[in-house]
Amino acid sequence: MGDPSLAMNRLACISGCSSKGPACVLLEIEGRRILLDAGVGPDAGAVPPLEFLEPIDALLLSHAHKDHAGAMRLLKHWGSFPVYATETTLRILGIPNGIPLPSRGSGEVLGMEVRTGRTGHASGSIWIRFPQKGGFLYMGDSSEESQVYAFDPPPPSELIAFDASYGLYDEKNSLDSSLWKQVLQTGSVVLPVPAEGRSLEFVLLLKERGYDTIYVDSRIYTTLRQTLDQDRDYLRPGVAERLESVLSSLEESRISHPEGIHIVTDGEASEGSAAWQWITQYERDTTPLFLFTGYLGKGTTAERIVTSGRGLWVRWNAHPTLEENLRLIQQVGARKVIPMFNPEPDIFLSPQVNLPEILLLDGEDIHW
Ligand SMILES: [Zn+2]
Repeated sequence: MGDPSLAMNRLACISGCSSKGPACVLLEIEGRRILLDAGVGPDAGAVPPLEFLEPIDALLLSHAHKDHAGAMRLLKHWGSFPVYATETTLRILGIPNGIPLPSRGSGEVLGMEVRTGRTGHASGSIWIRFPQKGGFLYMGDSSEESQVYAFDPPPPSELIAFDASYGLYDEKNSLDSSLWKQVLQTGSVVLPVPAEGRSLEFVLLLKERGYDTIYVDSRIYTTLRQTLDQDRDYLRPGVAERLESVLSSLEESRISHPEGIHIVTDGEASEGSAAWQWITQYERDTTPLFLFTGYLGKGTTAERIVTSGRGLWVRWNAHPTLEENLRLIQQVGARKVIPMFNPEPDIFLSPQVNLPEILLLDGEDIHW
């Protein structure tokens, strides 16, 4: 056998390369088979086609959101294999015997050295870079714009799989838009969010703007507390102190008291989420206003509420804008790109954007 560093690597996209589908990519490198993420959703019932996948040597999870980590139960028939993720992600997912990766710096996956860094997306969320062949960088979900979560610039990488969820969208977050102002003036708003992620940003920004009547459900409160107690490393400098100072004045959201702004955990009936309970209680009334800010999965309750006019959708970036992605690609010097989580990856070939060749679609594989 020759020098393994000269051998071809293979990347096979199981799901999420030409769809806003569950994240799931198979990396074959130096004779090892590593699954990068194994999610479900965000469209109702969406699962990666794993039934034909041969056994893997390891699973690596970029973060704990269910569209990246929700399909683990579908991998059970392969018996045991190591699961790599940050300590925070392993704790959130309840994986007691996983192998921790650092939030940033050098780590090891199946004996290979890798680099990791924080992605600005959620507690525990990392990008990961394999050094072979000039470097392969898997970004997972990322956002340099987050005012709460820290982002570590990745090192030079020949090949990058980046978070293209927003396509060519290029607006920054602002609570000053007329729509946001209008929404916040209504006085009775339910804001469903993932407990890990933009919940912290909304709590902090709204509190600091002087909105006194902010309520959170117990899961979000616990997440806030846990972030401050155990996951401070994922926050931007100074944010922990700012969060500490608003935490004492946060009140618990109660369904019997719909006035104010309620930041509650999103999710479906099967998850018994706080958002679902609010919707069940008030969908047939005219208030509170249901305000969604993330991807509206097809067939989800959130989509139904917005389509029926009972709720509103205003994007709040938790993924990169076009400008951020172009800067990232330039900074790492990538010559090959894989836009992920977007049903139309070809839009990145337009003259306006002019990225190099788009490499990988769902169900395809490449060697490099
Ligand atoms: Zn995510």
